[in-house]
Amino acid sequence: MSPIPNYEIYAIKYAHHMRRSPDNFIGGDSHDVPMPLDYFVWVIRHGQKVWVVDTGFSKEMAQQRGREFLRCPSEGLKMLDIDPAAVQDVIITHMHYDHAGNNHLFQGARYHLQDKEMAFATGRCMCHKVMRFPFDVQDVTAMVQRVYQDRTCFHDGDEEIAPGLSLHHVGGHTMGLQVVRVHTQRGWVVLASDASHFYANMEQERPFPLVYNVADMLQGYQRAYALASSADHVIPGHDPLVLHRYPSPNQAMKGIVARLDQPPVHA
Ligand SMILES: [Zn+2]
Ligand SMILES: [Zn+2]
Repeated sequence: MSPIPNYEIYAIKYAHHMRRSPDNFIGGDSHDVPMPLDYFVWVIRHGQKVWVVDTGFSKEMAQQRGREFLRCPSEGLKMLDIDPAAVQDVIITHMHYDHAGNNHLFQGARYHLQDKEMAFATGRCMCHKVMRFPFDVQDVTAMVQRVYQDRTCFHDGDEEIAPGLSLHHVGGHTMGLQVVRVHTQRGWVVLASDASHFYANMEQERPFPLVYNVADMLQGYQRAYALASSADHVIPGHDPLVLHRYPSPNQAMKGIVARLDQPPVHA
């Protein structure tokens, strides 16, 4: 039996949003301090093979939603010598606007997502404004078009898509949110995406307020930890601490790209 590959994982920051801590927890936060969000896409790589995890949003969407746009996710990919047009596999953790936009970038890719996320994004839950607000209908219709172009790969629950690379449905934040488990030189890393926006959400079991099912979100924290080699191996979806804790591939990428398959350099 051949050994499980050690993948490289990169977090690429593409946008930022200033907000305060009470906005990041159900029930608020008595400290009321600045607690901004970073926006990322992630890359998993082994040799020539690349998986892009989430596709981010565009400059236009940033303006529409009042987010600070730093760079197109494609610019970060190019820093890693990845041509978006040549990417064959995109994993969508969930279809919120900040994870499933930039549909023009990955024309050659097939998109991996959970059955339940597609049902959620196209079904009766979207009749409620509060549920559909974090979605963009252009992203949802682009996904429907991909279905008809044989460019989607649906998953139901837990599935291995390559040796040492698997998808796991956790729900909670959205009905069909999935986390990504990756084998690396330092063990099993879990890209939690919005299963936990910040380290604090999962560490303190204080859920983020944007949520489909609170109980599943709490269960998702446990699941992410259980899938990872240690708590240090779970990567939250929006925490600026990620770029602080993990090393950059080189000086030019500092503050933009972090290497997640290597151990954290700061606590
Ligand atoms: Zn989300
Ligand atoms: Zn998000």
